[in-house]
Amino acid sequence: MAISDPHAPGALVDGFGRAIRYLRVSVTDRCDLRCRYCMAERMTFLPRAELLALEEIAVIAERFIARGVRKIRLSGGEPLVRRDVIDLARRLGRHVGGGLDELTMTTNGTRLADHAGALHDAGIRRINVSLDSRDADRFRFITRHGDVAQVLGGIAAARSAGLRVKINMVALKGLNDDEIAAMLDWCIAEGLDLTLIETMPLGAIDEDRTDRFLPLTRVFEQLSASHALTRDLHGTGGPARYWRVAGSDTRLGLISPLTGNFCEGCNRVRLTTEGRLYSCLGHDDHADLKQALRGGGIAGLDAAIDAAIDAKPRAHDFHIARGAAPAVSRHMNVTGG
Ligand code: SAM
Ligand code: SF4
Repeated sequence: MAISDPHAPGALVDGFGRAIRYLRVSVTDRCDLRCRYCMAERMTFLPRAELLALEEIAVIAERFIARGVRKIRLSGGEPLVRRDVIDLARRLGRHVGGGLDELTMTTNGTRLADHAGALHDAGIRRINVSLDSRDADRFRFITRHGDVAQVLGGIAAARSAGLRVKINMVALKGLNDDEIAAMLDWCIAEGLDLTLIETMPLGAIDEDRTDRFLPLTRVFEQLSASHALTRDLHGTGGPARYWRVAGSDTRLGLISPLTGNFCEGCNRVRLTTEGRLYSCLGHDDHADLKQALRGGGIAGLDAAIDAAIDAKPRAHDFHIARGAAPAVSRHMNVTGG
């Protein structure tokens, strides 16, 4: 498109000079699990009438692609509980190798066995699967009713379908801290990558997050004592810092928003299932892209996106303190982790 074209969409660069290349899309806030650190047991989900239609999600995502976004991750809630998510994946997957470098998904894996092949056919090549424990009783306790065998079956199906799988594990004091080294060993044996995540203060849950907060600085010290880890600087421009595990194909990632702020190089924004654009996970400010699109078409959408990117905050303001309110009221399932 010619630079002089008055309708040429500008690239997305925020007020701190950070180019926005990565869009996360929460396709539903609903989920078939209730992980204790993510949700309360009784959750009120958005009324269906508030949700973006598949076509609207696709139009918004394609606008981001036109404006320089190179990677899209479908998330939720649990993305695979939304019936038309495979259609969305097929539509966005057509851009892979063109405007998009990569289309990915983060899933809890419960429905992967049914959908892995379709995800691969849609153009997805890598997925993240959340697995906070491989022990059946623990897994059920953490997720409030999940069946770990179903998730392990889903991971196997995904790999057979040709998807590369990375395991996401939230480090939880007193719940899975004694299993982290074993999880890394399992990932090494299986040829999987592992990313450990500090629990973040997003949305009210039924317990105090301080009780479960485990600083990854401490976890890393322990893992370094038992595994030869060398820093891998070839990151993805995201919040994780990576290490290679000697003698294996496994990459260990640490996402530590509390003990190591990662905002300086932040290249991402998040679209919720009701059409809100959050330019920072840790702030409540957002733009209403649903209204912008419905009221003003593509020009209205562009204007709302520009304003939101321009106002992207410098950093989140997470801290975990006993009795403190969450940094933001919305849960991770709304914004898409
Ligand atoms: N349901 C899918 C899943 O669990 O993978 C996708 C959505 S989930 C919100 C995305 C990721 O966010 C998961 O890896 C989950 O463990 C993580 N997560 C959820 N709540 C979190 C919190 N409060 N702090 C840190 N990570 C969280
Ligand atoms: Fe559902 Fe994922 Fe939240 Fe667990 S972490 S409750 S699977 S959205």
